[in-house]
Amino acid sequence: MVDTDILIIGGGTVGSVVARGLLKHTSLSVTMIEAKSYSHTQLHPGFDERVIALAKRTVDELAALDVHASRVGSVPIHHIQVSDKGAAGLCRLNARDYHIDSFGEVVSLRRLGEALQLRDNTPRFTLRCPATVTATSRTQQGVTVTLDDHSSITAKLLVLADGGRSLVHEQLGFERTVDDYQQTAIVVNVLTTEPHQHRAYERFTAQGPVAFLPFNPEFADSATNAHGFSVVWTLAPAMADAMMAASDSKFIYALQQAFGWRQGAITQIGKRFSYPLSLQQTKGVYTHRAVVCGNAAQMLHPIAGQGFNLGLRDAVSLVESLKDVDDPGAFSVLSTYQQARRRDKQTTITLTDGLVHLFSNDSPGLVALRNVGLMAMDNCPYLKQHFVRQATGFAQSS
Ligand SMILES: Cc1cc2nc3c(=O)[nH]c(=O)nc-3n(C[C@H](O)[C@H](O)[C@H](O)COP(=O)(O)OP(=O)(O)OC[C@H]3O[C@@H](n4cnc5c(N)ncnc54)[C@H](O)[C@@H]3O)c2cc1C
Repeated sequence: MVDTDILIIGGGTVGSVVARGLLKHTSLSVTMIEAKSYSHTQLHPGFDERVIALAKRTVDELAALDVHASRVGSVPIHHIQVSDKGAAGLCRLNARDYHIDSFGEVVSLRRLGEALQLRDNTPRFTLRCPATVTATSRTQQGVTVTLDDHSSITAKLLVLADGGRSLVHEQLGFERTVDDYQQTAIVVNVLTTEPHQHRAYERFTAQGPVAFLPFNPEFADSATNAHGFSVVWTLAPAMADAMMAASDSKFIYALQQAFGWRQGAITQIGKRFSYPLSLQQTKGVYTHRAVVCGNAAQMLHPIAGQGFNLGLRDAVSLVESLKDVDDPGAFSVLSTYQQARRRDKQTTITLTDGLVHLFSNDSPGLVALRNVGLMAMDNCPYLKQHFVRQATGFAQSS
């Protein structure tokens, strides 16, 4: 006897998408366990102050689940510029050249989180929050989790969407590899004298890559809200510590040196947040009556803005695998899900990791190689098309 068909651990972005997809496309009952209550005064680990770029496919998939990025203040990306500081390599892309309205949208994770939250009175849905899973056990027919209040819940399938620091992971026999990049990302919102005009930048520098994503920061007013960017600046840990501790004026000076003047002067910055970066991968996506998705399955470097986009495709694919099945925890169902995810995961992880190594290295040979690469891409429609398909999330859909 089970309490629920599907038990999702983790109510962050990916867990919420799995829940919404299952409720919309299947008749399964869903219980979600989330450790942290959502509150405007506390940073939620899943919905913190990050700003993320949603690929076009992600925007479309979310809209199909009645979550519209444009209704939570997203800013579309119409142009992308990739460049290498101190070298000639430059690649420019315009969405209209590919007959799309935008490459994707930039959105606050906190506001996306608000839109994704499911109400506890949603039919077939139960939310246990705040509640933390402390132990698990399995039988042939089901999986039981014990919560920190000593209650327990039994389900046919356990979905681990509990992020990159999952403790339940090992209890269920999943193995994880961790490759520490020895880099830290600083996330900060800024205003510049020139309007963003829906342009996103990725700039490679000797200290590490810096991305400027068009975004309207909370401190912008009506005169400046088209002049905002969300910045992700990747640095060696010691340098990142120094930049986190620097005064606003010192920080602006250093960021301006790294990014250059293509948006005029940086005039104002918001609060800074830092994230240590690693590549984490789980070997296999399922064990008996349990699957992983999102950051619990893989945690990527933000260099290409692919983490949530890939996690969302995990979620969508899992829902697809669970449509019209007799037993959602059956081996054949989970193996279909694993097979469906293999290629996309491999390609996205390899590309992201390759970019980190290619663009976080200042050896003269690699500098020359990436400049030739950027120039070749700027002049080669086929390479650009390939890049656009990957960046918009459609590379694996045909
Ligand atoms: C600097 C930075 C920039 C990024 N930029 C982008 C971008 O531009 N585009 C993009 O696609 N991605 C980006 N990402 C990645 C993206 O933010 C993540 O991939 C995504 O938010 C992960 O969502 P998740 O739901 O898998 O995990 P999480 O957000 O970590 O959610 C996990 C949830 O599980 C809960 N939990 C954990 N353990 C338990 C337990 N035992 N019991 C109950 N609940 C539990 C936690 O409280 C949390 O709410 C970026 C990441 C960083 C660090």
